[in-house]
Amino acid sequence: MCSVGGPTIPLMPASTSYQTGHVQLYIHKHLGLFLTKNLTWKKHISEIATKARKRLGCIQKHKYRLCRRSLEILYLTFVRPVMEYGNVMFDAGNQEDLEILTNIEKEALRTITGARYRCNIELLYNEVKWPTIEKRRELQKIATLGKIIIKKFPSYLLDDLPTFYDNARMNRRNKFASPPYHKDYYKKSFVPASIELWNQLPLDIRCIDSYKALKSRLKRDNTKKVPNYYRYGTRPLNILHTKLRLGCSDLNSDKFLIGISDTDLCSCGEIESVEHYLLECGNNLVAKVTMLDSITDILLAKGLSQQMADDMLGVDLLLKGDPILSIEENERIFKCVQIFINDSKRFT
Ligand SMILES: [Zn+2]
Repeated sequence: MCSVGGPTIPLMPASTSYQTGHVQLYIHKHLGLFLTKNLTWKKHISEIATKARKRLGCIQKHKYRLCRRSLEILYLTFVRPVMEYGNVMFDAGNQEDLEILTNIEKEALRTITGARYRCNIELLYNEVKWPTIEKRRELQKIATLGKIIIKKFPSYLLDDLPTFYDNARMNRRNKFASPPYHKDYYKKSFVPASIELWNQLPLDIRCIDSYKALKSRLKRDNTKKVPNYYRYGTRPLNILHTKLRLGCSDLNSDKFLIGISDTDLCSCGEIESVEHYLLECGNNLVAKVTMLDSITDILLAKGLSQQMADDMLGVDLLLKGDPILSIEENERIFKCVQIFINDSKRFT
């Protein structure tokens, strides 16, 4: 007979204690999850973090060789699944432990985008348009509870829910009554936490009766598409362009903000902001005029008036493109900007 836990057994370090006819384990790996005597997820998170870090390390060796899209695919297929297997369970873990996984994903985001260590994390997530790793765990919990409700899982799982199941309310609003709990730790476990998330969903989502449709709706509501032209250009120039967009470039104003430059001034005496570098500075004037003329030509060819083109020609267009333009037009604008970045030799 094998059991997990027991009131008289010490916690870590893990070992196995044998008693007559009865084996007690402090840690037991079951279906890839490390279950511990005290039901914390420290061991499991530590194990998957180690595995994920190793894999991310392999990807990082190719940070400057592979294009951004390849790095994204490698992370999404080889690293993130390691950190998400069983996440509906271990999301109840200690915040400090979960933070380890968050930090690995932040490191991955910096690898993919080429951003600096202290780059703003919200901007990084916005750059790749992913939900945060915490949000993905929430979505996975909703999807899993939905799968139980829609009876894609064995029916005994749904049969176990009636303790918390308010039939009258469920019929009208497709909501669950919140299960009673006395400890916060229990509140964070799968059933209560998923019910809380489920009850906050809009009614039309709670009424979806197909798991495929539910997954697709959750995905649609929580993901955005990255503009293809964000991946444009050779890797070194794409990184420099991206860093300007993320406000973590080697321009003095960006470096001054995080304390790695004594000054925020350009060699011309003005504050060296992104706008100053791309549009205003007198340095590299020929390259700048060439870039701005080329971009103006693209806008005029689109059918915009000179006035409209002048109004549109700003930092946002140069760094983020514009949705009214086609992908090809935005790529041509990005090409002009990256030629300027290269010719200005500001970051060499
Ligand atoms: Zn200047």
